Amino acid sequence: MAAEISYSKPVADWETRAFWEGCGRHELVLQRCRDCQTVQFRPRAICAKCLSSDIEHFVASGRGTVYTFTVTHQNHLPAFRDACPYVLAYVDLEEGPQLMTHVVGCDPQDVRIGMPVEVEFVDLERDPAKDASRGIAAGTAIPRFHPS
Ligand SMILES: [Zn+2]
Repeated sequence: MAAEISYSKPVADWETRAFWEGCGRHELVLQRCRDCQTVQFRPRAICAKCLSSDIEHFVASGRGTVYTFTVTHQNHLPAFRDACPYVLAYVDLEEGPQLMTHVVGCDPQDVRIGMPVEVEFVDLERDPAKDASRGIAAGTAIPRFHPS
């Protein structure tokens, strides 16, 4: 079995902080425009559809389906090298947005377009001093998906 990917800690800014802190609570946090109800990902200061700045955050279901994927058999970056083969995928979230992620928890050859998946989180080691300098007050985790 391949080793785990060695994820780097994200740097959160004022637009992405709610998302990354949600990950730290094992919650997939998305944004919804209060004016046109569009749900969006990646986090932004304004609605990508109507440009309203009246945006709210909410906890998404964490469920989706594989839109497309690739199986990576070779990656020389140290964080990924020993994890090959791994699945890099776009997942269509139940709430509408799509995100790029990894699919784990099954043989890479078993991943299929349209496969139902569910989010899980990889906790990153907490270091309060460094986390604060990265804009994250409470630590964080990386979201990825497994078959549901
Ligand atoms: Zn809008």
